[in-house]
Amino acid sequence: MPVSQVRFRPAEKKRRILIVEDELINREILKTILQDDYELVLAGTGTEAQNAIHEQFDTLSLILLDLNLPDIHGLDLLRETKSDIRYAHIPVVVLTADSDAEVDCLSLGAIDFIPKPYPRPEVVLARVLRTIELSEDRDILRWTERDQLTGLYNKEFFYHYAAQLDAHQKDCLTDAILIDVNSFHMLNERYGKSFGDEILRSIGKKTLEIVETTGGVACRSESDTFLVYCPHRTDYDSVLKQLSAFVNETVLGRGENIVRLRMGVYAGVNREIDIERRFDRAKIAANTVKGNFSRPIGFYDESMHEAELLEAQLIESFPRAIRERQFEVYYQPKFDVRAENPVLSSAEALIRWRHPTLGLVSPAKFIPLFEKNGLIYRLDSYVWSEAAAQIRCWKDQLGICLPVSVNVSRVDLFEPKLIDLLLEITGKNGLSHEELLLEITESAYTEDSEQIVEKVRRLRGLGFRIEMDDFGSGYSSLNMLSTLPIDALKLDMQFIRNAFREKKDTRLLEAMIQLARSFELPTIAEGVETAEQVSTLKTMGCDIIQGYYFSRPLPAAEFEEFLMKNKPRSVE
Ligand code: C2E
Ligand code: CA
Ligand code: CA
Repeated sequence: MPVSQVRFRPAEKKRRILIVEDELINREILKTILQDDYELVLAGTGTEAQNAIHEQFDTLSLILLDLNLPDIHGLDLLRETKSDIRYAHIPVVVLTADSDAEVDCLSLGAIDFIPKPYPRPEVVLARVLRTIELSEDRDILRWTERDQLTGLYNKEFFYHYAAQLDAHQKDCLTDAILIDVNSFHMLNERYGKSFGDEILRSIGKKTLEIVETTGGVACRSESDTFLVYCPHRTDYDSVLKQLSAFVNETVLGRGENIVRLRMGVYAGVNREIDIERRFDRAKIAANTVKGNFSRPIGFYDESMHEAELLEAQLIESFPRAIRERQFEVYYQPKFDVRAENPVLSSAEALIRWRHPTLGLVSPAKFIPLFEKNGLIYRLDSYVWSEAAAQIRCWKDQLGICLPVSVNVSRVDLFEPKLIDLLLEITGKNGLSHEELLLEITESAYTEDSEQIVEKVRRLRGLGFRIEMDDFGSGYSSLNMLSTLPIDALKLDMQFIRNAFREKKDTRLLEAMIQLARSFELPTIAEGVETAEQVSTLKTMGCDIIQGYYFSRPLPAAEFEEFLMKNKPRSVE
């Protein structure tokens, strides 16, 4: 029930009752009994009653309905009222002398009877009041259990009802579904919030219609995410098509199609796992088709299950891994290629996990996971400390001064103590701030720019040098580049990949380097693997190169040998 249908009654106003009764004498009796306590609306025919309901449904607290009307039968009027979702919540009490009609009335949704001839006024008043109060209590309950915008359940009640569905249908297969709007925030931004709301309302409406016909419950769990729990079905393609068509037609009119929905299906759920986790699985499935317009439905399968188990295992073994120093920092050199011969200028610290049972685990497997669950800051702190200690060690033992860049995750930038920690780490190792370079991925700047830009600016003010990582993979605008606090642009590896494909086309790469140059920012190319790439990049004006061509990332001990062979400047 949308909230607009929760009756709101200003404190000083009487509740409003519609009396539908054609006999004058009966009408007058009811009027006398009720008029001190209620505001009365009177209808002498079915048509008058229909009009009154249509115009005043959101303020009516009760309908008193006589069954014998001159134009429409009272039962038909009752049926009509109860089947319209706008009016169905208004309680109806039937006035009748015919006790045989009672069963029919109840089955059509009447809540109570007042027999004719009418009982004593106190009895009528008491019945009327009790009916209204019961229905108001029910409204309040409905109001708290429903999402205000769409009228679907909210998440807490949804889980509760889903559990009831399980209890009632013990042996039946059930599916957990997640429905989401692709790039909802973009639609909101481009067309306005009320357009966004309209999309959500129409998804809610159609989803409700679908679960009501086949059984099941639905809710809006957060902004543009909807959950459905329903008996197993196999026609999700057609369900999603119907839903998409309805939403697009509602918000745009026929033929247009800019709202793109996606769906994740965890079919035949395992009831031994928590209900929330069942929907996590639906979400995992939905994420596999994110932005994939040709395949809008993802089904949860065994491979996702295995990935999930691996994630759980990684999270569980994290504390021990930190304690037992299973994480190793590898170093990959960066060369300055501006002069005739390349000069080693710094190194990037890259984490590896030597897991006791899984072997060497790539950061691609665990970094995104730890960014999601908040462990990343602990891990990164560890890497920063290790890297700083390593710089110190090379200075002391080899007499070599080599700055090292560390990766700072987007998530780390929200840590209140980040700056203090970096100061502490450099201080403890007696390093100047420019010796620990910070790589911050481009997407960090675009996501919550204000707060992040401010923090990065403070870091830079303290002398830390900032390299924007993966540049070109995000959406920073060109005029942002001139104001962002950065010291170098690290081109996303994909640019190098694309430029040197079979059909070589380096125009975009060159344009990027020129662009950086126009902002007086040095460029770093990473993922450079061949001599041809090095020379092309050099000619284009790229300043620094990192990649397998010079060296893979190496464990500290091996990197030390590399250092001795490629000595950069020594400690003064
Ligand atoms: P990234 O920061 O873009 O790091 C560059 C990745 O490219 C590294 O992958 C590196 O080993 C790889 N690479 C370097 N040269 C070449 C090459 O010539 N060819 C190819 N094919 N690859 C090359 P890696 O070490 O697997 O790291 C993957 C990503 O994980 C990193 O991407 C970074 O985003 C993240 N990461 C690694 N270590 C850390 C860390 O300590 N903290 C955080 N927050 N993220 C890290
Ligand atoms: Ca990096
Ligand atoms: Ca990168």
